[in-house]
Amino acid sequence: MRKQIVAGNWKMNKDFVDSEILVAKLLSQHKHAQTQVIIAPPFTNLLAATNALKGSSIDVAAQNMHFAKQGAYTGEISADMLSSVGVKTVILGHSERRAYFNETDELLAQKVNAALENKMRVIFCFGEELSDRKSGQQNDVVAAQIQKALFHLSPDAWSNIILAYEPVWAIGTGETASPEQAQDMHAFIRQTIANQYNAQLANSISILYGGSVKSSNAKDIFSKPDVDGGLIGGASLDAEHFYAIVNSF
Ligand code: PEP
Repeated sequence: MRKQIVAGNWKMNKDFVDSEILVAKLLSQHKHAQTQVIIAPPFTNLLAATNALKGSSIDVAAQNMHFAKQGAYTGEISADMLSSVGVKTVILGHSERRAYFNETDELLAQKVNAALENKMRVIFCFGEELSDRKSGQQNDVVAAQIQKALFHLSPDAWSNIILAYEPVWAIGTGETASPEQAQDMHAFIRQTIANQYNAQLANSISILYGGSVKSSNAKDIFSKPDVDGGLIGGASLDAEHFYAIVNSF
């Protein structure tokens, strides 16, 4: 059985104090949660979050990392550094990193390798632009993103990969893919992985949907058979709203 997962990407929000407050509120909401919950605070709040969540089943993820082990990369953070503060999961390939920091699929393949070598779990994000969908290219674009960044991996490595399909036109826009659009794409992604590897592996991968998920639409999206949860941006910044989504299965 693949895992149901809801992950919150805080992006560049919450200073140290606000982060502590939000983590405490999340913990108080978490008691009855059945779903695997992951939060991704900014780098400056990771240590405090892992300390506060020790002993709970909420996992902490970083929003990015560099592929090198160490060295002259001013402003960057390595997998070792993340591990040293108790972070075992990293989000890679978010559309904002691709758009504003020129992250390519080739660079992302290096980051994925570095994370896996350090025994970290990767939430790998990808998704088409509005122009791709308007021209009917969405499947080709998504297949190419996955193929370039992930298809060099051995079958075993996939046990540490979580996929997050995030159509760029739905991120932070209030525009959501319909449950049917999400299901169609998730089924296509699973079939693409089955073609490259095998059906058993494809069926074991959690594929999250991301893009303006809220408590009002999460249930319909999560009810689809190939949607295994969500990557949540804006709505992850409020504990009650986030847990309404977590409890939407
Ligand atoms: C995201 O940033 O991954 C995201 C899905 O954002 P939002 O939920 O705000 O659209």
